Amino acid sequence: MRLLILEFFPTVLCRNEKAFFFPFLSGIGRSHGCDPVWLCLGETLRPDGAESSGRIFRAVPTALDLKLLAARLKGLKATHIVSSELLSPAALRVLRSAAPQAKLLVMPTPQEVHSASSMPRRCAMRSHADALSPEPEHRKFFPKCGWFLDWLGVRDETLAGSYLVEAEPDYRAEMLNEAARFSQAHITIMGGSLCGNLRTLDRNPCFAKVLSKHADHRGCAFCGSTMHPFSPPGQDVPGLVERQFRAILKSRKGQSRTKGVYEFFDIHAFRRFDEVFEVVLRLGVPSGVFLFNPRIDDVLTAADRIEKVLPRLAKAGHEVRILSMGIENFSPAENLRFNKDISPAQVDRLIELTRRWGKAYPKVFRPFKGGSSLPEFGVILYTPWTTLKDLRINLEAASARGFGGAGYWLYSTLLMYPDSPLHSLALEEKGIAAKRFPDRGAVYGAFSNEEESRSVVPWKFKDTKVADFFAIMVRVSAAAMEGAGCPFFKGDREFRGLERIYTEASESCRVTPLAVAFRLLGLMERGTRGSKEELLREAVREPAQSAGPSEEHAGRRFAPSSPTARAGEKLFRKLASRTPRDLRSLKFCGVQETPTPVGRAICVSVSVAGRRLDLDLVDASAPGPYFLRSRRFKAVLSRTTPSSDPSERKALEALLLLIDKSCAAAA
Ligand code: SF4
Repeated sequence: MRLLILEFFPTVLCRNEKAFFFPFLSGIGRSHGCDPVWLCLGETLRPDGAESSGRIFRAVPTALDLKLLAARLKGLKATHIVSSELLSPAALRVLRSAAPQAKLLVMPTPQEVHSASSMPRRCAMRSHADALSPEPEHRKFFPKCGWFLDWLGVRDETLAGSYLVEAEPDYRAEMLNEAARFSQAHITIMGGSLCGNLRTLDRNPCFAKVLSKHADHRGCAFCGSTMHPFSPPGQDVPGLVERQFRAILKSRKGQSRTKGVYEFFDIHAFRRFDEVFEVVLRLGVPSGVFLFNPRIDDVLTAADRIEKVLPRLAKAGHEVRILSMGIENFSPAENLRFNKDISPAQVDRLIELTRRWGKAYPKVFRPFKGGSSLPEFGVILYTPWTTLKDLRINLEAASARGFGGAGYWLYSTLLMYPDSPLHSLALEEKGIAAKRFPDRGAVYGAFSNEEESRSVVPWKFKDTKVADFFAIMVRVSAAAMEGAGCPFFKGDREFRGLERIYTEASESCRVTPLAVAFRLLGLMERGTRGSKEELLREAVREPAQSAGPSEEHAGRRFAPSSPTARAGEKLFRKLASRTPRDLRSLKFCGVQETPTPVGRAICVSVSVAGRRLDLDLVDASAPGPYFLRSRRFKAVLSRTTPSSDPSERKALEALLLLIDKSCAAAA
C-alpha cells in the first residue's frame, strides 16, 4: 500500500486550508505501513469557469511539470492519492496512467465539509462528501482520524476516535519543481479554532426573525470559521505546538516541507503568545516567519504578552506577521448586522500599538503591508443593506486613518454563504435575493483576491443609488489597478466608458479612486441624477475642496516614512555627494512617498543630462505595466516625463539596481 500526497502551492501568501492536515495524514500513513510520499508543485493553480457562475481553482501543471510528475510516479505504485486541489484533465491522465486503480481524494476546506449545499454534484473529484462528515458524533468527523483510517482501509480502533492533531506528524516532502523549491508556502501549526469570537445572535436585534434557525451560531453573521475545534477540549496548547515543531526539526534540510514560514491556526496559540514563543525559543527553531490570524480585540488583550517576548524574538531573528484583521465596517448599523463587535476606538488603539511595536522592533513585528503604515485590515464596504450614509461614515473614517487611495477596501462586497445568518436575513426581506448578481462587479474582489466564488449566494442592493455608486467605484478601481486591459471586465460595456473617463482624468491630474468616491458620494447625496458615465464625468470634474475634508489625504505625497523609502533617501544623499562613474549623467532631485492605486510608491526624481524624470517604484508584484523592473520593484515612469532614450534607460537601470540593493539591506 502506498499513500501519495500531492500539494500544489498557491502563488500568493494565503492560508491553504486544504493542506492543513497533510503532516498528520503522512504521519498516520507512515505508522500504518503506507510508506507515504508527499510531493509539492508550485505555480500551478488556475481559475476555472466563468466568475459569474462561480469560480473554482484547478492545479494545471505545465508540460514540463507533468513530465516531472510522470517520471516521479513511475514505479511508485500509489494505492491512495490525496490532492490539495482539483486537477486539470492532463494532470489527472498522468495520475491515472501511473496509478489506474488508486483511490483519489481531493481535500476540501473545513468550510466545504460543513456547507454540504455548496458542493457541485457534477464534479466527481469532490469525492470528500462520502469520506467525511461535519458531525462531531460521526465516525467520519473531519478533524478526527477515523475517516482517514477507513479511507485507507486500515483498522486502528485506538486511533480512530482521536483527533488528527494527536497523531505524530511527518513533514518529509519533496519539492518537485523549481517553483516549489523557491516557494515560501507556509505550513500550518494546527489545533483549536481559528477564531475565538463566540458571540451569539440572541442579543442582536437584527436577527430576531431568524434566531430560531441560528441559535447555535457563533461569531460574525457572514462567517463559518467558528466551527468545532480541531483539537480535543482542554488541549495543552504549548504542548501541541511543541510536538509539531519537534517533528518539523526532525525532518532533514532538502527533504522537508518546511520553508521557515509557519501559520498558527489556533487563536489560543496567539492568546498565549509568550508561552508559545518560549517553546519556539527553547527548541531553537531557526529564524523564521510566524503568521497569526487574531481579531483586533485579541491583539489588544495579548498586548502585554506580546511586548514581553518581542526583545527575545529580535535576538533570535524571528519575524511575526499578523494577517488581515477584520474591521469590516465603520458604520454602527452595518457592524451590528455583521455581529462583529469591533469599535473604531479599538481600531485606533491597535494602530497605535502596532506602530509602536513596528518602530521598536522593525525586524520582528511586521503587521504592515506593502510599506504602508497601517496593518492589513479586512473591510466589507458593500452589503445589500448599505446606504449612502453608511458609505459616508466609512469613507470619512477610513481616510482619517490613512487607508490607501485605492485598493480592495473600496470595492469589497459581502460574500454571502448559504445557510449563514446573513443569508437567512436576506431571504426574509423582499428585493435582496437574486438568481445572479445584477452587476458582475460584485465578485471582482473575490476574483482579484484569487478566491473561489463557487458557493457565494447572489444578492441585490436595496438602494439603487448605492448600486450605481458601487458599479462606478468597482470599475474605477479596476481601471486604476489594472488599466483598460483588466481581464475581469473584458467585454464589459460600462467598464469601457467609465475606464476612459477615469483614465483621462487621472492623466491630467492624478486622481485616486478614493478621491473619486468622495466626489461621487457628494453628488449622490445632493441628489444629482444622470447615467453612470455622466455621474463619473461630473465627479472627476468636481473641484477637490468640495469632496470632503479628508480627501486631500488620499493623494498627498509624504516625506518618506517607511524603512524602504528612507533607505532610498539615504542612498540619494550618498550618491549626491559621491556619484559612481556609471551614474555621472544623473542628478538626484528627491525621494517621496505616495499612495498609488497599487499601493504605496517611492517616488524618485532625477535629472538625466539635464532632463527631469520621475519614477514611481511600486512593489514588484503590483499589477500593471512598468518601465523597468528589479527584484523588489517595478519602476513606472510618470506620464509627464516619458523617456525613450536608451542612455536614459541605462542610467535608470543602474540606479534602480542600487536602490534595490540598499532597500534590501534596510529591510
Ligand atoms: S470573520 Fe473573523 S472574527 Fe468574525 S467569526 Fe469569522 S474569523 Fe471570527
